[in-house]
Amino acid sequence: SDERENLTYPLFGQAVRELAQTIADDGYEPDIILSIARGGLFVAGGLGYALDVKNLHVMNVEFYTGVGATLEMPVMLPPVPNVVDLSEKKVLVADDVADTGKTLKLVHDFCAGHVADVRCAVVYEKPQSLVKCEYVWRRTDAWINFPWSVEPPVVRRDGQVLDA
Ligand code: 5GP
Repeated sequence: SDERENLTYPLFGQAVRELAQTIADDGYEPDIILSIARGGLFVAGGLGYALDVKNLHVMNVEFYTGVGATLEMPVMLPPVPNVVDLSEKKVLVADDVADTGKTLKLVHDFCAGHVADVRCAVVYEKPQSLVKCEYVWRRTDAWINFPWSVEPPVVRRDGQVLDA
């Protein structure tokens, strides 16, 4: 459908507080928040303040389209966090959305076996997600416009693209 879920910065502020409240009410006290760049950085920053967690880590995950058009898998980009930093820790993985859930599954499986506990928190979860996140603000089937990516990158006044 043409339906869109439009998340604004003010609504995101409310969402991240409510998500943190759900986590606190559940009694989960993570030692580390592991964000998935780039969208998860906003979520992890907000949760870090709201849950009083200062130990934030980041993983860079990107979807790679292989030579076969059907081979679409997310891959971790360097630098990959050292699992020693995560050992015996309660980890909260933070991202903006679980869509197929492949990104979160990759990060969840990366942590599993090394950490004391790993749970996932997302602003949105879609029904087809193969990871069922422990903490979800809203569920939707629609394409989500996030405030940080709804607009294209800025261009220089002379029209040249920044990374060109
Ligand atoms: P996955 O399919 O692995 O769960 O999600 C991969 C990534 O695709 C997400 O982290 C996000 O960057 C992007 N994505 C998936 N669904 C949406 C959506 O509805 N809106 C936006 N803006 N990005 C999405």
